[in-house]
Order: sequence, then C-alpha cells, then structure tokens
Amino acid sequence: MTPLVNPAAEPVVLAFPFRGACRVQNSPANRVPSHGTDALGSSYAIDLVPVDERGRSAPRTWRGLLSHQPPEVFIGFGRPILAPVSGRVEAVHDAEPDHEGRRSQLALVPYMLGQARRARRGPVELAGSHVVIAHGAAGPFPLLAHRQRGSVQRQPGEWVSDTGSALPARGRGIGVVEGTVSEVLINDDQLTGVQMDDGHVIPRDALFVPPRFVPNNDLLVGLGCDLDEPGWVVTGANGATSVAGVWVAGNLANPRAQVITAAGEGSAAAIAINADLVDEDVSHAVRDYNRHGILP
Ligand SMILES: Cc1cc2nc3c(=O)[nH]c(=O)nc-3n(C[C@H](O)[C@H](O)[C@H](O)COP(=O)(O)OP(=O)(O)OC[C@H]3O[C@@H](n4cnc5c(N)ncnc54)[C@H](O)[C@@H]3O)c2cc1C
Repeated sequence: MTPLVNPAAEPVVLAFPFRGACRVQNSPANRVPSHGTDALGSSYAIDLVPVDERGRSAPRTWRGLLSHQPPEVFIGFGRPILAPVSGRVEAVHDAEPDHEGRRSQLALVPYMLGQARRARRGPVELAGSHVVIAHGAAGPFPLLAHRQRGSVQRQPGEWVSDTGSALPARGRGIGVVEGTVSEVLINDDQLTGVQMDDGHVIPRDALFVPPRFVPNNDLLVGLGCDLDEPGWVVTGANGATSVAGVWVAGNLANPRAQVITAAGEGSAAAIAINADLVDEDVSHAVRDYNRHGILP
C-alpha cells in the first residue's frame, strides 16, 4: 500500500504534545513506515515515551522484568497531553480502558500474538482512546493515540491551539483560536459571534479589533528618507532622518509614541534643528570671513 502523502504540501511543524523529557521510538526519522506498515495511516506514527531524568519510563522492579505492570507506575500516566498543532477537534474517543504496561519481553509475546486480531477490529482497537485534530479543512489530521481514559477535555468542533504559539496566552488562562475571520455575525443589531473562513462559528457577545498603524509618510518617502522593513522612517539621534536637514518626531516615525513622548521627541528635534542652523550660520560666517574678511 502506498502512503497517502502529498509531496507538494507544506511541511507542518508539530509542537511536543507534553512537557518534560521523553524517549522517541519507532520514528519516521529512522524509517518509513515507522511501525512496519502503512495501514491505518500509521506510516509516519511516532511513539513518545515520557521518561524521568534517568531515562526510565517507570521504576525498575522484578515485576517489570517478568510481567505486565499497572499503568499508574509509568511516569507519563496522567501527564497532560497538549495539542501539537492548532486546529479543530475532528474526533474524540475517550472510553477505551487503560491497558497494562508491557516492558517485559515475556509480557509482550501474548500482546503481539493478539495484534492481528486487534487490527481486524479497526483503528479504535489499535489507537485506544484518541483525539484527531484537523489542522486545516483538508488536513493534515494528526491523531493522538493511547490517551488515558476519560482525560480528553475537548469535544469535536472545538478549537485547540498548539503549545508553542499559544503558550503566553495559555499561561494567563486565555484560549487562542488561530485562523481567519471571514464574517462578523450580527443578529437584531447584536453581535452573536464570528465565523471563521472554514465555516466554524465562535459565539461571542463582544469583539475588540487591534489597530494597525500605518505611517502617513508620503512626503518623507518623496524626499528620499530611508525606511525600515514595515515602512517607518529610520531616525538617528534626536529624530534626524537619512536626508540632511529633515527631522521627524512623534507618531510619524514612532508608532508607540504617546502625547508626552511625541512632544518630547519634538522638543529634542527642535533643539537639534536649532543647533544645526547655528552650525550652518557659523560655517557660512567662517567661509565669508576667509573669502572677503567680512566680520558679522
Ligand atoms: C484613539 C487614540 C487614543 C489615544 N490616547 C492617548 C492617551 O490617552 N494618552 C496619550 O498620551 N496619547 C494617546 N494617544 C496617542 C496620541 O494621540 C499620539 O501619541 C499623539 O497625538 C502623537 O502626536 P503627533 O504630533 O506625533 O501626531 P498627530 O497628533 O497625529 O499629529 C499629526 C498632524 O499632522 C497632520 N498631517 C498629517 N499628514 C499631513 C500632511 N501631509 N500635511 C499636513 N499635515 C498633515 C495631521 O492631520 C495631524 O494633525 C492616542 C491615540 C489614539 C489614536
């Protein structure tokens, strides 16, 4: 079977789905298909095993060497699992029992003998409790398998944010929905929500739109003043631009300026302009004196 991979698709960078150290096993970095089969979308599956600072997934015991162990002894059991990508929760299955851990080769034998039977029963039997996230309307659809029973806190249709980009907001208890708003929904002159471009509706009764600052600097551009990448005039000391004799102050070059800052910058620029004019007067006077012996 050929894996369903679109070679033209943009690569998706996944965040780690939990905090703390882990051991990576059966990774597509080593081989594809990573688990020896392309069946059930598992060509690029990765096994992440949470470990302690000594690299152990659970304390070493005689039982662990000879038999299976209850899931509670593993340090990863109960650890919160986070979304590795932003997207909409597509499917949730949260009812499979937490199975015994099998670190012992002896315990693995009956498990492996039962693998074909589980595969015949389908994805749920193999993936256990799981969550599928739609990263875009047409995928990709990463699946988080072998979740702890009853641990899933999201429902299908809800949005999740990846751990990287949303971390500062998450840390302050703020949920983040990534995507593009296509429409503001208003019913009877009241805001009811926003509609995302994939059709998903987020109910809301208040909406704030951050301002986007645009410099009104055609005059300075026409004079040839250097701009930075976003388009703001580059200034040196006291508001001097790259064009001799041209200074700026306030919001024209500094979007963060408030009244007091803008006025302060204006004052500093005015002093610099005055000094520049005096310098110019002096150099003219020196020039005239040298040429004609004229004193002011
Ligand atoms: C909604 C809002 C709330 C704010 N609240 C506060 C606050 O509470 N406290 C605070 O300190 N600051 C506040 N600010 C910021 C403050 O208004 C600015 O920092 C300050 O006005 C900047 O002064 P400025 O002289 O640089 O620019 P501006 O005050 O914008 O002055 C520029 C002037 O140049 C004129 N102009 C533009 N182009 C041309 C042209 N081509 N030819 C001739 N004239 C032109 C404009 O009409 C304008 O009069 C607020 C700003 C906004 C937008």
